[in-house]
Amino acid sequence: MAKPKLTLVLASPRGFCAGVERAIEIVERALEKFGPPVYVRHEIVHNRFVVEALEAKGAVFVEELNEVPENVPVIFSAHGVPKTVPAEAENRNLFYLDATCPLVSKVHREAERHHRLGRQILLIGHAGHPEVIGTMGQLPEGSILLVEEIPDAENVEVADPENLAFITQTTLSVDDTAEMIGVLRRRFPLIHGPNKEDICYATTNRQQAVKVIAPDCDALLVVGAPNSSNSQRLVEVARNLGCAKSLLVQRAASIDWSILQGITRLGVTAGASAPELLVEEVIAACRERFDVTIEEITVTAESVRFKLPRVLNETSMAV
Ligand code: SF4
Repeated sequence: MAKPKLTLVLASPRGFCAGVERAIEIVERALEKFGPPVYVRHEIVHNRFVVEALEAKGAVFVEELNEVPENVPVIFSAHGVPKTVPAEAENRNLFYLDATCPLVSKVHREAERHHRLGRQILLIGHAGHPEVIGTMGQLPEGSILLVEEIPDAENVEVADPENLAFITQTTLSVDDTAEMIGVLRRRFPLIHGPNKEDICYATTNRQQAVKVIAPDCDALLVVGAPNSSNSQRLVEVARNLGCAKSLLVQRAASIDWSILQGITRLGVTAGASAPELLVEEVIAACRERFDVTIEEITVTAESVRFKLPRVLNETSMAV
């Protein structure tokens, strides 16, 4: 029997961003340079497939530094860490490498600058996300208030509206964040902050690509992990544009094909921590069931690269 026809509309850019590539390379280069085991505090990036591949090479993932033995290198994840973490590593004389994405570090420096200038800071972000924990942990407790939703922006009480600033998580919905900043600027016209927000180029571009393809698709698959903020936002962006069958899938094996019955145009994208290999797996699974035509829609080209920590390029180094 002939397979039903399906056009796969691939969003571009999709998948790995420069911060994720750098973080993974830091672990791989550390394994080569120092030999296994190399410890990593928290999932280096939010993707089980990536974590398991690094585990197979000798990386050991832990949640806290007290699980790291003496005399092995430890790496901090791309999401950033509170200041107490490197301080604890130094206290214990642990050798550490910081894989915090430079665009997250930039937000940390912004927060410090506002604090130095005596401003109270509102952080737009999601409670409990490691990036938010890391950013709030750059300053003494109470210096940063978290604003998660519009009602928080409407109701947050500040010490002095004339001495106020906002910063944002890097992986938020561009549209929801703009709305929240609008509320803050209306309530506190003198609030300081970035021109738009601190959402990174990769999050912005992946959302933009989904905005272009979603209205023209019957369904959309976002390859990504449930704990990946930027992947979850891609699902929401597509749903907000009327693509109700917008689903997060970890990999091909987790696709519920019954939901995709009868569709002829399927959008595919991937969060910033999802490898292209998993997208290829989804495409192969579609080919098994459908007569597939591929259309790739590119909204912008990306060429961002971040440097590795210098120590990884040095020729010898004892831990
Ligand atoms: S999603 Fe953005 S902030 Fe996060 S690692 Fe990638 S480039 Fe950096």
